[in-house]
Amino acid sequence: EEDEVTANEYLDELEFLALTAGATTKARFTQKVNHPDSKYFIGSGKAQEIKEYVDAHDIDLVIFDDDLSPSQAQNLERKIKVKIIDRSNLILDIFANHAQSAQARTQVELAQMQYLLPRLRGLWTHLERQQGGIGTRGPGEKEIETDRRIVRDKIKKLQDRLEKLELQSETRRKNRGQYIRVAFVGYTNVGKSSLMNRLSKSDVLEENKLFATLDTTVRKVVFGRMPFLMSDTVGFIRKLPHHLVESFKSTLEETKESDILIHVVDLSHPSYEEQIETVQQTLASLGVEQKPILMVFNKLDLYRKKFFDDLLTESEKDALVNELRESLDKKYEGQIVMVSARTKENLQTLRDMLSGMIETKYKERYPYKA
Ligand code: GDP
Repeated sequence: EEDEVTANEYLDELEFLALTAGATTKARFTQKVNHPDSKYFIGSGKAQEIKEYVDAHDIDLVIFDDDLSPSQAQNLERKIKVKIIDRSNLILDIFANHAQSAQARTQVELAQMQYLLPRLRGLWTHLERQQGGIGTRGPGEKEIETDRRIVRDKIKKLQDRLEKLELQSETRRKNRGQYIRVAFVGYTNVGKSSLMNRLSKSDVLEENKLFATLDTTVRKVVFGRMPFLMSDTVGFIRKLPHHLVESFKSTLEETKESDILIHVVDLSHPSYEEQIETVQQTLASLGVEQKPILMVFNKLDLYRKKFFDDLLTESEKDALVNELRESLDKKYEGQIVMVSARTKENLQTLRDMLSGMIETKYKERYPYKA
């Protein structure tokens, strides 16, 4: 039963990703796969079941939550006769649509090329099939090799361009050296942009979609008389395709060079604990887990709505919130605060805590000024 819960949560996320990419989900299929079938990934009975559903309901896309090999994707397309994509395809597509800066666009293009390279043969056979197949001789090894070379050259060019762009942003970051830097990190869609907007009164795009923020946004903010820089980085997500993690490493540089981290959590999400873990693992892999961290548990309003019985009195609800805060305090390192970016509850507390942390950093950095 527990397996089913996690499977459903993964599929919720996949459905949300699909929606972000512009697709509406009509049905879900699950199968416990201990040893993926080499032909279809799923069993052939399940493939048949999906085919029948697709035929009966005018479906034009099937998305797999797990990565398919090029030949599995091809076999499934042959069988089901609609477009088949996997989670990696979907995420790449969304990234491509949301990339704004030259750096983000180059990173996406690079990831797409890297994804394409091992799949070139599949593409050729695909084409051959679409043209009818009869009498058309398939391309030989030579053509595939030529294509591989073109894609490899393209990859090299993109890598070079990315290196140049990274150098430029490094210089830009160096020039901001005198400021204390605060970086927002957290799972995607937890409310990082919203909080940044509340704290800086700026206008960063907020969307109830995954990956609304692909590029790092940096804002200069002043609390009291202390100016500091606030940055928002790309959202973290489970099962992010490996090559994407690689190509987005540079986006995380901002996090590496920050003085203080604000780890934002969506308290109303059923698996927020697992999301915290994903983020913590990423932070550890960047070697930044030692930086001072303020954990902000956001969407407190939604948490109340979802998990509190209407029959409870306000003071009973407050007591429950207090209990939760104490248990979170015990469980997680760093300072914690529970807020709602929506209703602005506790935002002043958040501001005060952050001010305190910034002040400490100022004193460390400029002891003679104190
Ligand atoms: P990001 O991906 O972490 O930057 O998340 P966003 O700031 O874009 O917010 C994602 C979605 O959650 C948006 O629809 C926000 O309006 C919504 N949201 C953010 N904070 C809160 C909150 O405190 N309460 C509620 N109910 N919704 C929120």
